[in-house]
Parts: sequence; C-alpha cells; structure tokens
Amino acid sequence: MVSDCIFCQIVAGAIPSDRVAESSNVLAFRDINPVAPTHVLLIPKDHVVDSAADIRPEHGAILAELFGMAAEIAAAEGLDDGWKLVTNVGAAAGQTVFHAHFHLIGGWHRPLPTPDAESA
Ligand code: 5GP
Ligand code: ZN
Repeated sequence: MVSDCIFCQIVAGAIPSDRVAESSNVLAFRDINPVAPTHVLLIPKDHVVDSAADIRPEHGAILAELFGMAAEIAAAEGLDDGWKLVTNVGAAAGQTVFHAHFHLIGGWHRPLPTPDAESA
C-alpha cells in the first residue's frame, strides 16, 4: 500500500467508493466524475505499478483477471452495443492517479448519471 495513493486508500476502505465488483486481485468501482453513463475504474488491489507503461509479463495473471472482470461488468451493465477499456499513461495523457487503472466506458444509449440530491 502506498499511503498517499487515493486508489490504495479506496482498496483499504479508508476512502468510500461505489464498488461494482471485486476479486482476489482486482477491484472495480464507479468513477466519481463519469464521462459516460457507465464509467467504472478497474484497478489491481496491490499498487503493483504506477501506470500501464510499467506492466511486465509477471503481471499477466492480474491483467487477465482485470480484463475478464471488465467483460463481466460490461455484460451486467448491458453494454451490448460496445464499450471501451482505456488507460492513460502520464500527465500529458490525462493521468491524474498514479496507481495503474483502466476506465471501462460505455452505455451511450443511456443518459449520463446525474448527481443525486445529497451530493449535489
Ligand atoms: P486518470 O485521469 O488518472 O486516468 O483517472 C483517474 C480517475 O479517477 C478520474 O477519472 C477521476 O474522476 C477518478 N477519481 C479520482 N479520485 C477519485 C475518488 O476519490 N473516487 C473515485 N471513485 N474516483 C476518483
Ligand atoms: Zn495505490
């Protein structure tokens, strides 16, 4: 665990999140600032690498777990018309959290979620 990492704190439960799915090595939760009707972040629970640029063959099993979970979530969310799995590497590409993660994005046939009354 990297103590000043937001995503490590989400894994630990120190920062609340809207969890969608979990396996032994991977956690999926909804992005706090969705850019599409479905916008879920999938992360390795352990802070194994800061970004996808540092992924090595020994991370293959975790990646397979993560991609499998993405497909399951896409099916559960009804993203039958297609979806994206995106990862940003480096600040210039828009990376703001340096704990490797993948954005599962889709559901364009539905409207964007609106903030609920309590958090608005
Ligand atoms: P990046 O810009 O690094 O590719 O993606 C980081 C994502 O994390 C952003 O889309 C941002 O909205 C999301 N994010 C940042 N802080 C939090 C948080 O505390 N909770 C949740 N659920 N998402 C967060
Ligand atoms: Zn981390």
